[in-house]
Amino acid sequence: MPLDLDTIPILDHHCHSLYRAQPQTTDEWRKFFTESYYPEIARDHVPYTIFYQWAQRALAHFYGCAANDDAILEKRNAYGLAELTQKINADANIQAWLVDYGYSTTHTFGHDELKNIAGVRVEKVLRLEVMLEQFIVQANAFDAVHDLFDNALHDLRGKGYVSLKSIMAYRTGLQIQPTTHAQARAEFAALKERATRDGKLRLANQTFLNYFIPRAVEIAARQEFPIQFHTGFGDPDLDLAQVNPAFLRPLFEEEKYRGAKIVLLHAAYPYARTLGYLAAVYPNVYADFGLAIPFVAGDARAVLRDVLGLAPASKVLYSSDAFHIPELYWLGAKLGRRALGDVLAEYVADDLITGDAAREMAELMLWRNAARVYGVNLARGFALQT
Ligand SMILES: [Zn+2]
Repeated sequence: MPLDLDTIPILDHHCHSLYRAQPQTTDEWRKFFTESYYPEIARDHVPYTIFYQWAQRALAHFYGCAANDDAILEKRNAYGLAELTQKINADANIQAWLVDYGYSTTHTFGHDELKNIAGVRVEKVLRLEVMLEQFIVQANAFDAVHDLFDNALHDLRGKGYVSLKSIMAYRTGLQIQPTTHAQARAEFAALKERATRDGKLRLANQTFLNYFIPRAVEIAARQEFPIQFHTGFGDPDLDLAQVNPAFLRPLFEEEKYRGAKIVLLHAAYPYARTLGYLAAVYPNVYADFGLAIPFVAGDARAVLRDVLGLAPASKVLYSSDAFHIPELYWLGAKLGRRALGDVLAEYVADDLITGDAAREMAELMLWRNAARVYGVNLARGFALQT
């Protein structure tokens, strides 16, 4: 018997903001169901993914319409965005969003706007690379960038953030080499020249990131503050061979980093077993399974088994990694609860755990671990349905 986890609320600890221009056409809609940015993938192949097939049927049921893109688009676009988002959060019993605004910032809603739209608690996550890029554009010397960076990371809770976030995986991969202040400083002139020439910068300099990202972890450690790392798959901007979370080992082991809670995102897919191991052995490592669920829909239970095979449920966190359209937050929640309920029920059926333990583990993974890791006190306005 699968476990029904619908009454357990979700604290979505990693997601992004909503797109201002919501999709109007099938082509625009299908782009949200792939990590590929090649248009022919969305056009010709997305309809043959398990994720898309399931999503279309689940959404048709939700909207009470035919299971095709045109019918779903017509229904969803008849709602206002806030109305739709609030309907979705209520239906999926999602109670809070922790939002990284550093993705597609200019096309998405800012924090104050999003809070009104979402109708649930919304908290801010600070994306480090985007901030560093702005500092290089602004500042005329390495020391000034350094000061801006340190000041920005001073008293993070006081500044209203609940977590840091690094997308180093996308820029250089996760291999961290010990890097000195002098080595980072030597890179500044070339980066500044490019920033001045283009008026902006995409920071993918290994030396620079190998200096500043571990520094951020060290500062976070002093504040016992969390930092999320993108690990595993994503759009083809990343090199899948360089995003194995095991590369981050120095951050798990060296004393100066150990006060930081390091949350490794996306089930590190396809390195989910590696992720389960890291969460099992290092006290400061947490394993997230967002993005993998819902995107790896055809293998969602396997993803969870790979992580939970070894990792304690007290170290595993649900998120959606949803972005741009409200339906992704809903699809993540629906498939996440369902896959988790199925896998925990298998363990109960195998007499590995009791039904009570399964329920407690589900609560930990859907919200309690996140509430603890991010210090997001959900007592206020957070009624646990029983
Ligand atoms: Zn994300």
